[in-house]
Amino acid sequence: MKKNHKYIFVIGGVMSGVGKGITTSSIGTILAAKGFNVNIIKVDPYLNVDAGTMNPTEHGEVFVLNSGLETDQDMGNYERFMNRDLNNGDYMTSGMIYKHVIDKERALGFGGRCIDADTIRDEIIHRYETAARSNKSDISVIEIGGTVGDYQNIMFIEAARVLKVKNPENVLFIMVSFLPIPHKLGEMKSKPTQNAIKQLNSYGIQTDIVIARSEKPLDKKRKEKIAISCNVPAENVISAPDIESIYDVPLNFEKDKLGDHLTELLGLKNRPTNLKDWSAFARKAKNGKHTVNIAVVGKYFDTGDFVLSDAYVSVIEAIKFSAYAAGVKAKLTWLNSKHFETNPAKVKELANYDGVLVPGGFGETGIKGKLRAIEFVRGNKIPYLGLCYGMQLAVIEFARNVAGLKDANTTEIDEKSKNPVIDIMEHQRKHLAEGRYGASMRLGAYPCKLKKGTVAGFAYGETRVSERHRHRYEVNPTYIAKLEKAGLVFSGTSPDGKLMEIAELPKEKHPFFVGTQFHPEFLARPLRPHPLFTAFIKASMKKK
Ligand code: GLN
Repeated sequence: MKKNHKYIFVIGGVMSGVGKGITTSSIGTILAAKGFNVNIIKVDPYLNVDAGTMNPTEHGEVFVLNSGLETDQDMGNYERFMNRDLNNGDYMTSGMIYKHVIDKERALGFGGRCIDADTIRDEIIHRYETAARSNKSDISVIEIGGTVGDYQNIMFIEAARVLKVKNPENVLFIMVSFLPIPHKLGEMKSKPTQNAIKQLNSYGIQTDIVIARSEKPLDKKRKEKIAISCNVPAENVISAPDIESIYDVPLNFEKDKLGDHLTELLGLKNRPTNLKDWSAFARKAKNGKHTVNIAVVGKYFDTGDFVLSDAYVSVIEAIKFSAYAAGVKAKLTWLNSKHFETNPAKVKELANYDGVLVPGGFGETGIKGKLRAIEFVRGNKIPYLGLCYGMQLAVIEFARNVAGLKDANTTEIDEKSKNPVIDIMEHQRKHLAEGRYGASMRLGAYPCKLKKGTVAGFAYGETRVSERHRHRYEVNPTYIAKLEKAGLVFSGTSPDGKLMEIAELPKEKHPFFVGTQFHPEFLARPLRPHPLFTAFIKASMKKK
């Protein structure tokens, strides 16, 4: 670790869901734009060892790193904002920490010592420090999940406090808080924020900065109230009202000179902030005059009476980046595939969209509906992009309706299928038989060789790429020749040619029909839109 390495801890107050992740990403972006080497870390208080086993409807997307680690969707935001790949050390959960400590204890790794909460705290500190060291960074920006006052995240906050005691000059605290404006009162209330800061005080931590999230900008009166009651200079209370695009957040913070402020508080020599590329991107995000209408046919949407698109956040962002790059706005419509099952005629509505996307998924529910949707878009030449399960289902649909394998299926749904065109990988079968579900899929970055002259090959403009995976099943090699003979093109494969990575229809047969076994959405960035998404958007614009 560099001498005088700086730590910025971002802690939430009042309630969750007020944009702590975006604030953390934006702070990282600004400091990196000042030329500092920044690493950014997410701490999740839950006991799951990673995010891989969590239900996307409840927890949102599982974001996969190059290494294959399955993480929280915030890590996706970090990668997108920071425009770089993150490492395993940049993510931790309570489960990961406890498991490590307990496994070590079982192996006599502590030499007979008594293991207690301090051991957990020290392991956390060790991980904060290791991450700082391994990325050779100047500054770590660490987001502690949850809200102050939760008992679940106490160990992580305690570790931060101790780090501050050891390096008083090098540790900074930021509280992201919320100021409600109750409808009946019509007035912004600062009391919950005051209480949250006092709660943090009770842990022995004084926040240096308050990011005051609210529907409207903070007025002078409230700023002063928070400052006086919470021991924070008024200029360190930053107003952060709701805005249209999350990508404007770093720019707005910079208008308030947050970056200069942070460097000063950290005792660093200030440098100019270069957000030129970022501003250009944020401008494009607002400028598109025309709209391209994309339907996403999925199933992880409903939570109670609400429609939740969190499960597909990287897909949504990937579509947007490519739309901006193409100079248009993307309008996304969520279609629950189950509705195509109860009402098959509804599938015709897909003709109203410029493009259709089927994202990844697991299990049997909603699959018949997705297959109906794919059959319709293939037959009606509507641009189609299938991701992971969306690719496997496209292969099944093609096998059934074009290659004449009427009962083609994936063994994920029908283990006894006579024509398992999608089948489980051998070692995966073993994992399942042993009840090993956690971190046992084909995960993370793998190389993919592209065929020249194909839709995908043309879109990438390269012959070899690397893409991230998260799946158990694959195109069954015994059916490849049959499928190819019927007209399906496998335009991307593993370098040894054994695993089918991309399936497509040739340009003459369909304007854009592409499925990927991997998840291209994980690598789409604001400053580096994903070529396949861009090709899909361009094809959709043509249809329009
Ligand atoms: N369920 C499929 C598999 O495990 C697809 C996974 C996905 O879409 N992420 O192979």
